[in-house]
Amino acid sequence: MKRRPLLVGNWKMHTTVLDACHLAADIAKTCVGLKDRDVLLAPPFTVLSQVAHVVAETGILLAAQNVCWEAQGAFTGEISPLMVLDAGGAAAIVGHSERRQIFHEDNALINKRVRGALAFGLVPILCVGETLDEREGGQTFKIIEEHIRSGLAGVVAADMGDTVLAYEPVWAIGTGQTATKEQAQEVHAFIRNLVAGMYEKDVADQIRILYGGSVKPDNIDALMAQDDIDGALVGGAALNAESFERIIHFQEI
Ligand code: PEP
Repeated sequence: MKRRPLLVGNWKMHTTVLDACHLAADIAKTCVGLKDRDVLLAPPFTVLSQVAHVVAETGILLAAQNVCWEAQGAFTGEISPLMVLDAGGAAAIVGHSERRQIFHEDNALINKRVRGALAFGLVPILCVGETLDEREGGQTFKIIEEHIRSGLAGVVAADMGDTVLAYEPVWAIGTGQTATKEQAQEVHAFIRNLVAGMYEKDVADQIRILYGGSVKPDNIDALMAQDDIDGALVGGAALNAESFERIIHFQEI
């Protein structure tokens, strides 16, 4: 079954307002008339609302790079789902490996973020992935299963249509070392089977599972040709309009 492709640009901690608006405008030009796929940008919080103005009416969607589970309150340094919606966001990346590794976010915290996003009508993009040590130690599937089961704890089937999963092997993020299409497909198929077991086959058939980790213009086509890869979560290559354009306009080979 073919799902609607989703190409996400994660700008991480890059861009001031001016850079962000220029980049968004350049990307928007490449998306004119695009009907068969979704494009989503995740700029830093500080530029979200300005980027929302730039991409208004273009069909490009916006995401926050993280989200809290509360609407407001004493949560210094956090951003609430209401604030994301207010700034023009429709989604939030949750559980990115940089959050897990650098900021020590654990599965329980990430699950609160997933459920918080859903409770306020934001699409959570739940990132999962193993480190190099875990892969070399034969732990890949165990880690992925833990990330998925605990990240989705308490999420009901009805909410799974509004959830996106992203397989991002930590060893491939920002390293230039992409998983081979076979390695990526193997884990994506595992995740889809796992979701089928946790929910039902329909849910698994419909959920979009993105691949992330050094996606570039020269590997996107082969990745997107895999049965269970429904899109890409792109970091470095999404900061350059030309390379992100090529990724958005992938051709399956
Ligand atoms: C990411 O930010 O999620 C990512 C995959 O980064 P990169 O494409 O640079 O590896």
